[in-house]
Amino acid sequence: MKIAIAGAGAMGSRFGYQLKKAGQDVTLIDPWTDHVEAIREHGLQVDYDGQLDSVEIPILYPQEVTESYDLVVCFTKALGLDAMLANIKPALGEHTRVLCLLNGLGHEKTVEKYVPAENFLIGNTIWTAGLDGPGKAHLYGSGSLALQNVVPGHEEQAKEVAELLDQAGLNATFDANVRYSIYRKAALNGCVNGVCALLDCNLGSFGSTDSAPVIIREVVSEFAAVAAQEGIILDQPEVVSYVESIFSPDSIGEHFPSLHQDLVQKGRLTEIDFINGAIARQAVEYGFRAPYCELITLLVHSKEQILGAK
Ligand code: NAD
Repeated sequence: MKIAIAGAGAMGSRFGYQLKKAGQDVTLIDPWTDHVEAIREHGLQVDYDGQLDSVEIPILYPQEVTESYDLVVCFTKALGLDAMLANIKPALGEHTRVLCLLNGLGHEKTVEKYVPAENFLIGNTIWTAGLDGPGKAHLYGSGSLALQNVVPGHEEQAKEVAELLDQAGLNATFDANVRYSIYRKAALNGCVNGVCALLDCNLGSFGSTDSAPVIIREVVSEFAAVAAQEGIILDQPEVVSYVESIFSPDSIGEHFPSLHQDLVQKGRLTEIDFINGAIARQAVEYGFRAPYCELITLLVHSKEQILGAK
């Protein structure tokens, strides 16, 4: 299968690396000049749990894409997805399956502008990755991913993709109810990502505050209210426990969530509109308000402006 990774930052590099090591025909696509040129010159360099490796892997700028692929895995940031798909139209043939594994909610509306719904797969991953610099991926720990076809009746196509990713060591499974996991993970991100950026703290510090249980309970209930409108019934006590489980130093309590890294550490615009912002917007569409999500979204946008994020 001819595979393209659209958005070859930290996560795209992880998937590209693992697929290439598994012998797949994989091409990275990314607009970041320093990154593309570094990979062309030195290969993709990888620090995998302390083991250094490098792989030769083709990488294209979006405007260089001329051929279609059997599978395109999207790993841009949420704000970059539309532009990426618009710029790689030749990659999206009649039968190209497109798998979207971005964090957050609402990407379907973007992908469906470019891809027939029957070719579209949605999913969710708990793999992690970072970049030590252009061309240098930092991979650690283990993870998994789940995916599903958007249109009923296309399960076999989704299962085939899950199997291919699984063979590359990505612990991939087909999940007939993947929207539940997407909402569950988005709720986790909605509780901690914006708040840790606003408070400029790591997960454990936020989790140790007296206000954390209230914020978590309210944010989870807002995600659950929107999910319920879409027929997904979140188990709220379980989601709250899931969020609280990440605060200990034995878990990832020392970790600064990605939105903190993007905004506070790198001065980049954030994915907040696709996390709490998506819930605030959807709630209004369904005729109610999600005030905690609204306020977190507004405050993160204020902080983006104050810090001159780009
Ligand atoms: P990333 O920021 O590493 O890469 C996204 C895009 O930004 C790429 O095109 C990359 O080339 C570009 N980019 C990165 N650093 C840059 C820089 N310094 N200058 C210019 N361009 C730069 O994003 P990611 O962490 O791979 O995340 C992709 C998606 O996966 C997001 O939706 C994210 O929320 C989700 N996700 C990430 C992780 C993780 O651990 N990183 C885990 C699960 C899901």
